[in-house]
Amino acid sequence: MGEIIHRSKTRPVKVGNLTIGGSDELIIQSMTMSKTHDVKATVDEINRLTEAGCQIVRVACPDERAARAISEIKKRITIPLVVDIHFDYKLALIAIEGGADKIRINPGNIGRREKVEAVVKAAKAKGIPIRIGVNAGSLERHIVNKYGYPTADGMVESALHHIKILEDLDFHDIIVSMKASDVNLAIEAYEKAARAFDYPLHLGITESGTLFAGTIKSAAGLGAILSKGIGNTLRISLSADPVEEVKVARELLKSFGLISNAATLVSCPTCGRIEIDLISIANEVEEYIQHIKAPLKISVLGCAVNGPGEAREADIGIAGARGEGLLFKKGKTVRKVPEETMVEELKKEIDIMAEEYFKK
Ligand code: SF4
Repeated sequence: MGEIIHRSKTRPVKVGNLTIGGSDELIIQSMTMSKTHDVKATVDEINRLTEAGCQIVRVACPDERAARAISEIKKRITIPLVVDIHFDYKLALIAIEGGADKIRINPGNIGRREKVEAVVKAAKAKGIPIRIGVNAGSLERHIVNKYGYPTADGMVESALHHIKILEDLDFHDIIVSMKASDVNLAIEAYEKAARAFDYPLHLGITESGTLFAGTIKSAAGLGAILSKGIGNTLRISLSADPVEEVKVARELLKSFGLISNAATLVSCPTCGRIEIDLISIANEVEEYIQHIKAPLKISVLGCAVNGPGEAREADIGIAGARGEGLLFKKGKTVRKVPEETMVEELKKEIDIMAEEYFKK
């Protein structure tokens, strides 16, 4: 398949104070692990996610207790809240009433038409969107029978089926996900979806695995999709603390230059010329810059032989030089710093540069 640029050509859909679609921006989402009816635990988790850079959060809504907790959770968080519902339209109505900023429900699974109409009417009245979540593992039986097994065409057919139900009720604030745990299937499904409709796409490789394997699988799949200009919001799904999902999402967007409020670390792969304990320095600097909201490029290099030259593109960095380091800015050496204070000095300089960036 050829080049597709779908991202900015999608329909803008409001979710709380954010807009998904209609631009090049990608919104980072995650999902809580706490029991949603446990308001304190859920709010604490959401606040940790917000701190890490999560922009929209989703909670599971398996029962009425969870649905009734939405209004209290909403009062205590600062980012838009998505409520994930399977089948039960009454839970959707309670969640919408409680202030959900978006619901994830497949209209074709709700049942009788009156029930679908009630949910759509409530969502319209509050001006909130509905995400249709197509999942290769739970495609409608008639679609699986038609294709024999879950295929990208089958997934698009399922999406169009749910979309039509909403469009027939004159509802268009729709976001669609096309999740599969098979990377090739997910890539094909998102490409075909991008060609089939202009609703914004929520990206994800579902059940991708643990922190290490799932990060690689998600980066491989979502990287291919993002590189085609597809995707308006994303969630990395990991069997790990959801804060890790947000970190991975931010790092992935950085790789494509699709995030403007994050600093990037460049560190050398190390070799026999290494003059400082580069691996621990790189890890410490990486951890530190998680909270830097300016798009700075920071470089940490093991030696000065190629150091400043290799780092010409960086805003600031350190190159090791036998027990000390050369601190450089924009490729020019500024001063020497002893190894013991090197990281602290670099952190201070990063803070100054970040402050200057926001003064501009
Ligand atoms: Fe080796 Fe120096 Fe390059 Fe690092 S910066 S890979 S230590 S030559």
